[in-house]
Amino acid sequence: MTLFDKDKMKLESVIDVGETVLCDICNADYSYSERKGGFLFNSKSVCPRCEPRMRENIAKHKEERFIKAECPKEMSFREFVLKCRKGDNTIKIYVEKGKNESSKSNQKSY
Ligand SMILES: [Zn+2]
Repeated sequence: MTLFDKDKMKLESVIDVGETVLCDICNADYSYSERKGGFLFNSKSVCPRCEPRMRENIAKHKEERFIKAECPKEMSFREFVLKCRKGDNTIKIYVEKGKNESSKSNQKSY
């Protein structure tokens, strides 16, 4: 379920994050790291360091179905996340039509 309705929103700006790779759990920067591992949980990228803790939580809550992709053995987390983005390295900022800045919605697209 999402509260995000594209028809009612207009695209305000697009931020190009380029090759920046951050863990969506701990915010660690992997842009220059070749560390392997991690996975994609829903639309969140989980870094190798957060992986054991996240997997524990996922098992506890039986949320395995939300694991959308696993980092292949020989691939770095950075490469894996960039691949999941499929070349779209932008964060799109939408504002509700006819309304002002206060209702900004941040959507990261993968
Ligand atoms: Zn992390």
